[in-house]
Amino acid sequence: MMVGMSTLDYDVVVVGAGNGGLSAAALLKRRGCRDVALVEPSPVHVYKPLQNYVGVGLGEISELERFQADLIPAGGALAPDERDASRPGERFGALCRRDDGERSRSAACAWCEDQLGRHTPRPRSLRSETTVTAVAGGNALMLHGPAGPERLPADLIHLHPPYVAPDFVAASGLDADGTKGFIAVDPATLRHRTFRRVWGVGDACDLGDARTGGALRHQVKIVIDNIQRSRRGLPLSHYDGYTVAPIATARGELSFGEYDRQFRVHRSLPVPDEITARRAWWWLDRYALPQIYWHRIIKGRL
Ligand SMILES: Cc1cc2nc3c(=O)[nH]c(=O)nc-3n(C[C@H](O)[C@H](O)[C@H](O)COP(=O)(O)OP(=O)(O)OC[C@H]3O[C@@H](n4cnc5c(N)ncnc54)[C@H](O)[C@@H]3O)c2cc1C
Repeated sequence: MMVGMSTLDYDVVVVGAGNGGLSAAALLKRRGCRDVALVEPSPVHVYKPLQNYVGVGLGEISELERFQADLIPAGGALAPDERDASRPGERFGALCRRDDGERSRSAACAWCEDQLGRHTPRPRSLRSETTVTAVAGGNALMLHGPAGPERLPADLIHLHPPYVAPDFVAASGLDADGTKGFIAVDPATLRHRTFRRVWGVGDACDLGDARTGGALRHQVKIVIDNIQRSRRGLPLSHYDGYTVAPIATARGELSFGEYDRQFRVHRSLPVPDEITARRAWWWLDRYALPQIYWHRIIKGRL
């Protein structure tokens, strides 16, 4: 979600430094935006698609996490105060600032060092043919597997129930009737339906599309274009609902489905015949895309 704020210290404030927020902030800086701030409560950024592989033992947790402070674009600011994100019109303090163009963590930043201390290796175990029957007391899973019922204590529980909107969106008044708590943006222009200086991309928006990082590759370019176009009084570009999803067809083999809001095929990946399932596409998804994500997508280079 982006808020153009001419009366505050920052030219553009990006709420949420996930896939969409980081890519948008980086692209804004590349296009010459003078000052960009990111509001993000989590000190650690997660590349979510790799979770699928880590979950089945085909990757390490260390591959999917990076410190947020290392990822913000040079010249950008990171404000890790969750309360401020629900009040996009209010001023907030920036704790980390990247002015030097270096990739290192801001050495002035006590908050980062504190989080670094807490960030310790975790053990891993894999249960197959097992169902989660309940979450007990917020710190244990009740499981049912081949050996019967089991209580599994856990420091971190990551479940994938049906997708719902984050609470802070409704709390901030950025939703609307019928959006089920998601941000009420125009699905074509990505501009907020009521607040004309608020724009949205990604999972928190009511766009009617499959929520994917692949969709963000298109959304981010369109929303940055449209922020610039609206400031110059030009007609806005339109997003066609493009999304892309890897579809696993066998162990070590997958295809990519690319389509628009009308489910028409919309090919844009720079590879031949991504629809036919191949081992090469599995390698692309497992090994190449994470590198492309860290080095190009969230750097605003793709
Ligand atoms: C397991 C899994 C596998 C996936 N696999 C794929 C895949 O293979 N291909 C694909 O294209 N997509 C995949 N996706 C989807 C993709 O990861 C998401 O669509 C993408 O991350 C959405 O980006 P986003 O910026 O909208 O949200 P996120 O990346 O979730 O970022 C949201 C950010 O907002 C922050 N935030 C939360 N609350 C607040 C607050 N109050 N104030 C400010 N910030 C806040 C969060 O900490 C987070 O950093 C997968 C998702 C999951 C969960």
